[in-house]
Amino acid sequence: MIPTGCSYHRPQSIDQAVDALTSGSGAVILAGGQSLIPLMKLGQSRPAALVDVAGIASLRYLNVEGRRIAIGALTTARDLERSTDLAAAVPVFAQAAKQIADPAVRARGTFVGALAFGDPGGDWPAIGLALEATLEVCGPSGSRQVQIGANLTPWEAIKRNEIIASATIEVPDGRTAAVYAKVRHPASGYALVGVAVLLTLDAAGVCTRCRIAATGALRRPARLPTIEASILGSNLDGLDLEEVAASLRAPLAGITGDAYAGSAQRAQLLRVLIHRTLHQTVAKLTSHP
Ligand SMILES: Cc1cc2nc3c(=O)[nH]c(=O)nc-3n(C[C@H](O)[C@H](O)[C@H](O)COP(=O)(O)OP(=O)(O)OC[C@H]3O[C@@H](n4cnc5c(N)ncnc54)[C@H](O)[C@@H]3O)c2cc1C
Repeated sequence: MIPTGCSYHRPQSIDQAVDALTSGSGAVILAGGQSLIPLMKLGQSRPAALVDVAGIASLRYLNVEGRRIAIGALTTARDLERSTDLAAAVPVFAQAAKQIADPAVRARGTFVGALAFGDPGGDWPAIGLALEATLEVCGPSGSRQVQIGANLTPWEAIKRNEIIASATIEVPDGRTAAVYAKVRHPASGYALVGVAVLLTLDAAGVCTRCRIAATGALRRPARLPTIEASILGSNLDGLDLEEVAASLRAPLAGITGDAYAGSAQRAQLLRVLIHRTLHQTVAKLTSHP
């Protein structure tokens, strides 16, 4: 399908981008274009104006200071995949980046754009949820911080005339590890089901922080608070992780299904991935106490 016409803006600063978003109705940000352009081609998105932020050079950066990571809005999956500093500090980024689509998509698609969009099968939203990213959001009245919590989804919290300038993640010090795993949809490469886990243990092996986020199986990527609660406060040495994963009951409200994989199949894949990612995270924590 040939997309309908629209006007095009190429701001050189965040202020100019906010002005362009504010000046006309129906203006949307174009970042890497790997979600928006396909939707426009399918006629599922018909913006009146594109605000192409690719010219704002200051938005492309990756700062790694200890376990505090700041990711600019134009930083791509490839940037995250290739950073040796990031791989050393928080290896789950490279692990997840490698599982996204193909090198061409990774060279353009941005981490922040994926959080803003929140594709139901997107990999980065699961990482953003499990690692509790904080977004810097800029609009006509200045900037504000939006934390991606269990119930806060950026695609609902960001207004039409706002731009996410960056995402910041602070991984707790101490015994903390994170793992991401997915079952790929063979055609699209998106997550049929994906799970991101972050665990923190204290010196006695008791879990003091547990974040588990799922993608692919739900209408929107989301944390799984009931499973998190069954792990938090437990000593992981004595916990049957398979039993924890199996406690995800079917039919579970919100599990999606389609012609390729029904909701019962996705629920079962979700249980398998929860078990696998928990097991791998615990193994990491045990091998690097
Ligand atoms: C063939 C193909 C396969 C793919 N496979 C996968 C996959 O396996 N896993 C996966 O996770 N993703 C996959 N993707 C999607 C890819 O990761 C996207 O790049 C990503 O989801 C969106 O990032 P983007 O920079 O391209 O955003 P764009 O497409 O430019 O924008 C997406 C949406 O977010 C908004 N937006 C973007 N940046 C901002 C910002 N800074 N502030 C506010 N709003 C913003 C835009 O207005 C738009 O509505 C695939 C894409 C393609 C084309």
